[in-house]
Amino acid sequence: MSEAKKGNLSIHTENIFPIIKKWLYSEQDIFVRELISNATDASNKRKVLDTNIKDEDLEIEIKIDKNKKTISIIDNGIGMTQEEIEKYINQIAFSGAEDFIGKYKDKQAAIIGHFGLGFYSSFMVSDKVTIDSLSYTEGAEPTFWECDGSVEYSTKKGKRKNVGTTVTLHLNTESESYLESHKIKELLEKYCSFMPFPIKFEKDLVNVKEALWNKKPIDVTEDEYKEFYKKIFHDYQDPIFWIHLNTDYPFTLKGILYFPKMRQDIELLKGKVKLYCNNVFVADNLKEFIPEFMTMLRGGIDVPDIPLNVSRSFLQNDKQVQQIRKHIVKKISDQFISTFKEDRKKYETYWEDIKNVIKYGMLTEEEFGETMRDFVIFKNTKGDFMTITEYIESVSERQDKEDKKTKIYYGVSENTQVSLLNLIKEQNIEVIFCESPLDTHLMQSLEMKNPDISFVRIDSEINDLLIDNEKVELLDQDNKTFNQNLEEKIQNLLNDDKIKIEIKSLKSNALPGMVIFNEFMRRFSEMSALQTGGTESFLRDHTFVLNAENPTVKKIYDLSLAGKTDEAKTLITYIHDLAMLEQKRFTGEELKSFVENANKVLKLVHG
Ligand code: ADP
Repeated sequence: MSEAKKGNLSIHTENIFPIIKKWLYSEQDIFVRELISNATDASNKRKVLDTNIKDEDLEIEIKIDKNKKTISIIDNGIGMTQEEIEKYINQIAFSGAEDFIGKYKDKQAAIIGHFGLGFYSSFMVSDKVTIDSLSYTEGAEPTFWECDGSVEYSTKKGKRKNVGTTVTLHLNTESESYLESHKIKELLEKYCSFMPFPIKFEKDLVNVKEALWNKKPIDVTEDEYKEFYKKIFHDYQDPIFWIHLNTDYPFTLKGILYFPKMRQDIELLKGKVKLYCNNVFVADNLKEFIPEFMTMLRGGIDVPDIPLNVSRSFLQNDKQVQQIRKHIVKKISDQFISTFKEDRKKYETYWEDIKNVIKYGMLTEEEFGETMRDFVIFKNTKGDFMTITEYIESVSERQDKEDKKTKIYYGVSENTQVSLLNLIKEQNIEVIFCESPLDTHLMQSLEMKNPDISFVRIDSEINDLLIDNEKVELLDQDNKTFNQNLEEKIQNLLNDDKIKIEIKSLKSNALPGMVIFNEFMRRFSEMSALQTGGTESFLRDHTFVLNAENPTVKKIYDLSLAGKTDEAKTLITYIHDLAMLEQKRFTGEELKSFVENANKVLKLVHG
């Protein structure tokens, strides 16, 4: 029979609570997690030790009493006898607290779970905590324990009639917001969604979901993966790709990583990879586990070997954490590569949604970049996808290699520089599209890794294949003078020393002119665009190439010979504007003068 008793907690540091409270202050919410974890442990123990209880009868309930300002956590787990409360709550937990103070006095980080401080986190939000517990052991009597956060506690006979434990927190004034049921509900969903026993709050179950990663990949259907994703991440769209992690050696790791469908709105894309320890939520997007490039992903990873309360310094210095991180990154590339090899079509279908993650990963994770190099694909002008290796193979016959380097021609998109693209397509030059800002960085890094290739934007040089060499050879003295004169005339007409004029005989006469930019300068300006606020100023310096075969260009020459300088100027400005429009948008003054000049062109048509 338990006797009413008063005692002193076996602790030497008198003011332990203020210190703990201060240390833990920043994360008060965790008391929910700690107390429910304890209730879960107790339920687990009862499941194993007590043959009288059925699995489905075990449950945990949370009750709020607004009048009394209390929160109770009620379980029907194993319970505690008076002696056990003495031992586990008074002695063990407090020696843990003492250790904690000893070791972590001077450090920012707290590893609470390691010191058996879980239960005492309740004092962060309470003036008084009581325990009413009945042990599952035969003949046990209920025990009531009470402590007001000082070193004194008292026990007396408790009231519980059925086996289990009720922990009641009498909230302090600063913590009364926890009486709002939505707040508790939110915390329960955050920390306890995947806990193995039903958790009831206001008659609702808060954790009907079993963590799907606890199953073996072979036992999960495609629909289950999708269903789980939508439920957990409140997304109405299916995920497009997922990776199920399941490792037992050299560490235990389970998880699923989902690639959400790409959205226009980048905000919506922000992912969450949640870290769990035995189904208890630990943290979101811990970068020590989850490399930055994966922050668009969603999912969960359960690592049983980490403490519930992880500190940054622990994570940074832990070898196993580093191994796990490496393992996760490797699994991701493995999955991509096997999909690429086994089902290229599928890989290509997913590409739009996964490409940014892959490219970003390649740029930020050395090893990932190395392994994925042959699996980055680019769309070409025929609408097919190709890897860089495939590009190189496809042009191996090409004559225009300089220093054995293979030039990889790229454009922005099917709808940019259309006339130039058409001309290039007619010559069967393979062009791939690189449209995202990441691509510039990726090209740079691919070139560094493979000195035999160089990326060349289609408007950064006039490819020899586009030039009509026969015509050039046949150029008689008159024509050479024509070219020189034309160059001079146009220079005068445009009157802009930032623009260099070149006259070329292109194979097609359709394209009157185009602007070209130095590849190096373009990349440099694109890569620094974020700091300098755009590529506008870079665009001022360029070469304006005119096609000597184009009838309008010839007409300009004739007009200027005939002294019709104004008309010649109108036409050449128009050609230059059109070429520039392929590079940027016109606004303000520029747009105004473009329209004015275009109207003059229309007048010319009518003579
Ligand atoms: P930890 O959970 O890390 O051991 P705690 O301070 O949270 O540290 O708990 C100390 C001990 O008190 C637990 O190990 C357990 O034996 C006991 N205990 C706490 N809560 C309960 C409960 N709801 N039911 C049964 N035993 C409990």
